Amino acid sequence: MRVLIVGGGIAGVGVGAFLAPHADVTLAEQETSLAYHTTGRSAALFFENYGAGPIRPLTKASRTYFDHPPDGLVDHPLISPRGALTIAREDQLGHLEATYAEGVAAGAQVERISPERALEVCPSLRREAVAAALWEPDAADIDVAGLHQAFVRTMRAAGASITTGAEVHRATHEGQGWRVDLGTTTWAGDVIVDAAGAWGDVVAERCGVAPIGLQPLRRTAFMVGGSDASRGWPLVADVDYDWYFKPDGEQILCSLADETPSPPCDARPQEIDVALAIDRINAATDLGIRHVRSQWAGLRTFAPDRSMVIGPDPRQPAFVWLVGQGGTGIQTAPAASRLAAALVLGRSVPDDMTAAGVDPVALSPERLATG
Ligand SMILES: Cc1cc2nc3c(=O)[nH]c(=O)nc-3n(C[C@H](O)[C@H](O)[C@H](O)COP(=O)(O)OP(=O)(O)OC[C@H]3O[C@@H](n4cnc5c(N)ncnc54)[C@H](O)[C@@H]3O)c2cc1C
Repeated sequence: MRVLIVGGGIAGVGVGAFLAPHADVTLAEQETSLAYHTTGRSAALFFENYGAGPIRPLTKASRTYFDHPPDGLVDHPLISPRGALTIAREDQLGHLEATYAEGVAAGAQVERISPERALEVCPSLRREAVAAALWEPDAADIDVAGLHQAFVRTMRAAGASITTGAEVHRATHEGQGWRVDLGTTTWAGDVIVDAAGAWGDVVAERCGVAPIGLQPLRRTAFMVGGSDASRGWPLVADVDYDWYFKPDGEQILCSLADETPSPPCDARPQEIDVALAIDRINAATDLGIRHVRSQWAGLRTFAPDRSMVIGPDPRQPAFVWLVGQGGTGIQTAPAASRLAAALVLGRSVPDDMTAAGVDPVALSPERLATG
């Protein structure tokens, strides 16, 4: 089977890694380097109590890969302990309870802790900003570049071809299969996997497949100076996701957790989003942020129901969707990629994923089909 994967972010190389030992795989990335868009711009966190219901089992089912990557692929751990603290003011206590209940129902390790304990794990928090808190001990930092490289290495070792500067302009499907115009070359083969992130619907339309209503939402992040003490803090998030911060070496990564609709593009940070995040984080902590060291933005792309879309298009089964990763595309990549590869190869869902609660029907593009 000849497969063309469109997109060289974490989704594209992930499915490539699980497909390459069983198929003739080519990956086309429009940029001159891989992981240039959303994958290179994440907060790099593994956080179980997060995301739409059908996504959560994918996060759970990915943990084994992070903890025990295949032998010889990486020379240092893909994941390291961080912990996550979700805090609520008095007026947000109802939301905190709902978040707790959601986490428990999904089987995440989440505990209620006292404000005093929250201040012990992150002493920078103001006492008046914490009426109650949740603690997720298993939350962890992901080595995103390490994970991406591990997938690329697996693809190359299995003989897959990876081409950068190769944009899918147009594709037609005839009796013999696909013919795809990649600018300077043409690809011919059996299956296209759409792992084009914010451009997922654009690629579908170029292939003559109806779009599914993907919406890219911009999120801005920035780095401020930290200290030796801040290195050991957890991720700290407001329960309504009005802001979050987490240590990154001796710096601290901060975000307004904004979700501003955007067309697919090379997203740029907005000053107003940085300023608002600083205001809110300064109100909840004694960090006293005044200076920003660097800033960036990325597009988190969602399907209308905010769940991922994985599987063959109902009207064109030779076109397989792997889109709508939203804010969880890194932490779900091992399981989402393995599921997508199984569906491309016409295999059943791996047993460990079924045991983790992964439901291919809830993730299938069929649920979004209209007319
Ligand atoms: C600020 C921020 C924080 C985040 N934090 C986290 C986190 O802590 N944990 C987590 O799990 N996730 C997080 N995410 C989300 C995560 O980064 C995304 O879900 C993930 O990177 C999406 O990967 P992707 O491969 O689908 O998309 P992308 O990385 O954008 O890759 C898609 C690729 O397709 C290529 N492409 C598009 N059109 C074409 C075409 N016509 N031809 C060829 N190539 C094409 C693009 O150039 C691009 O490289 C965060 C995102 C942001 C912005």
